Amino acid sequence: MLYKKDIETLYRPEVLVVGGGPSGLCAALAAAREGADTMLIEQYGFCGGMATAGLVAPFMTCYDSSGGDQLIRGLFEKIVGRLCETGGAIRPSEVGAPSAFTSYITVGHIHVTPFRAEALKLTADRMLAEAGVKVLYHTSFVDAEAQGGYIKRIVIHRKNGLAAIEPKVTVDCTGDADVAAAAGAGFVLGDEKTGRIQPATMFFRIGNVDSSKIEEDYRANINNFYRRDGVNYRSLHWWVEKAREAGDWDLDRVSVGLFRGVDEDEWSINTSRIMNVDGTDSESLTRAETEGREQVDEIFRFFVKYVPGCERAKLLQTGSTVGIRETRHIKGMKRITVDSLLGCEVPDDSIAVAANSVDVHGKFGPRSNEYIALPAGKYYGIPYGALVPDGFANLLVAGRPVSADSDAAGAIRVMPPCMATGEAAGTAAALSAGCDGSVTAGAKKRFTPAPEADVDLLRTLLRSRGARVD
Ligand SMILES: Cc1cc2nc3c(=O)[nH]c(=O)nc-3n(C[C@H](O)[C@H](O)[C@H](O)COP(=O)(O)OP(=O)(O)OC[C@H]3O[C@@H](n4cnc5c(N)ncnc54)[C@H](O)[C@@H]3O)c2cc1C
Repeated sequence: MLYKKDIETLYRPEVLVVGGGPSGLCAALAAAREGADTMLIEQYGFCGGMATAGLVAPFMTCYDSSGGDQLIRGLFEKIVGRLCETGGAIRPSEVGAPSAFTSYITVGHIHVTPFRAEALKLTADRMLAEAGVKVLYHTSFVDAEAQGGYIKRIVIHRKNGLAAIEPKVTVDCTGDADVAAAAGAGFVLGDEKTGRIQPATMFFRIGNVDSSKIEEDYRANINNFYRRDGVNYRSLHWWVEKAREAGDWDLDRVSVGLFRGVDEDEWSINTSRIMNVDGTDSESLTRAETEGREQVDEIFRFFVKYVPGCERAKLLQTGSTVGIRETRHIKGMKRITVDSLLGCEVPDDSIAVAANSVDVHGKFGPRSNEYIALPAGKYYGIPYGALVPDGFANLLVAGRPVSADSDAAGAIRVMPPCMATGEAAGTAAALSAGCDGSVTAGAKKRFTPAPEADVDLLRTLLRSRGARVD
C-alpha cells in the first residue's frame, strides 16, 4: 500500500534534539547555552529516559577508577548540583565504595550518584525552561528526509497527528540512533562479530526495607563477596544459591544487583535478565516487557522470603519501560574500540574523558558478565568523530549509540559519559548552526559542519563551560 499525505512543517529550530534521556537533556541545554534556538522532542511526558522511565539508578561513577579525580563535570555536575539542592541526589564525592549505594561493589563503582527519578523529571523541566528550550512531549520521531548526507526534514507524530520539523542541525539522542538509521546512516546492531546483544533488564524499586539488616547480612557474608569464573558476583549470591536449591529461583542470574536510593528504606533492583531482545523492534520489546515483569515478580518474592530486612518490603514500581543496554552503534567518522579504552588513549579530538569499566552482561552466556576495570587513576577520551555519522553534514549522535564496538559501548553506555557526549554534541550542533562561540572560546572562527569541524574550537568552548576534555 502506498500511503501519501502532505505533512506541514510546523517548526524550524536551529538545533533539534530528538530524545530527552540523559544525553538529550544535556544536548539541548548545551545547544541553548550557546545561543541556538533549540527544540527537544520526547516520546514520553518527561525527560530522563532510562533514568526516569527505566528507573535505572544510580548514575555510575564520574571519577577515575581509583576515585581520586572527578572526570565528568560540565552539565552532569550542574544537574547533580540542582538535584542536591532539593534533596533529589547525594553528591558523588560523599558516596564511598563498597557501600549500600554501590551494591557493595568497589571496583569501578567509587563515587556513584544516587538520585530520585521524580526529582530528575522536575529538575529537567526547570532547567530546560530556564535555558529557553522549546520542549514537545508526547512526540515521537517517525522519519527523516535526507539527501546527500544532509537532513532536510524530520517527520514527527504528535498526539494531534503527523507534522514536520526543518532544523539546521539534528542531534539524535534516542538511545537507538533512530534518526541516523532512518536517514540512511550506517550502523551495527549489537556485536558485529557475534551478533550478540546485551540482555535487557526490568528495573524495579522496593520500599519499607530495614536497611540495617541488609548491611548486617552483607558484613556477615563479606568473605563470600568476590568474582569467580569470570562472573561478577554482585551481591546476595549466598541467598540466591539457597533459593535455587529450594526451587524458588529459576532465573539466569547468580546474584543480585541492589542499590540503596536517596531514601534510607528504598532500593533499586537491577537483576532480571531477558535474553535476545532487539530494542528496535516492538514485537521483541513487548516480550521483554512481559517477561521482565514476570521475573520481577519472582525476584520480589525472593527478597521477601530470603533477604533479611525485606520481610515487610513493598514493591513500589517497575520501570515504565524495560531497560535496554544495547541496540545500534552508528558507523561514525571514528570508531571507539575496547582496546583504545583499556589502553587509556585520549585522542586529539577528545570531547570528554571517562573511566567507566567495560561491563558486558551475558557475554559468555546467560549467567555470565564481563567486567574489566581500568588501572588505578587512569582514564580514556571519547573522540568527537564517534559522534558524527559517516557522510553526514548536519547530524550528530550522542549517548548510547555513538560509534563504538560492542565491548567499548559496554563502558561508555552508562549515564555520566552519555551526558558528556550529549553536552559535546549539543555544543557542536549550536556551533554548526551558526553560533560562533566567540564569547567564551575567544575565537571568531566559524565552526564548519561535520566532517571538517574545528574540533579545537569545540574543545576550548567545552572546557570554558566546565567540562573536562583533556
Ligand atoms: C538495565 C540497565 C542498567 C543500567 N545501569 C546503569 C547504572 O547503574 N548507572 C548508569 O549510569 N547507567 C546505567 N545504565 C545505562 C544507561 O541507563 C543508559 O545507557 C543511558 O540512559 C543512555 O542514555 P541515552 O540518553 O543515550 O538514552 P536513553 O536513556 O535511552 O534515552 C533516550 C530517550 O529518547 C527517547 N526516544 C527514543 N526513541 C524516540 C523516538 N523515536 N521519538 C522520541 N523520543 C524517543 C526515549 O523516550 C528516551 O527518553 C543501565 C542501563 C540498563 C538498561
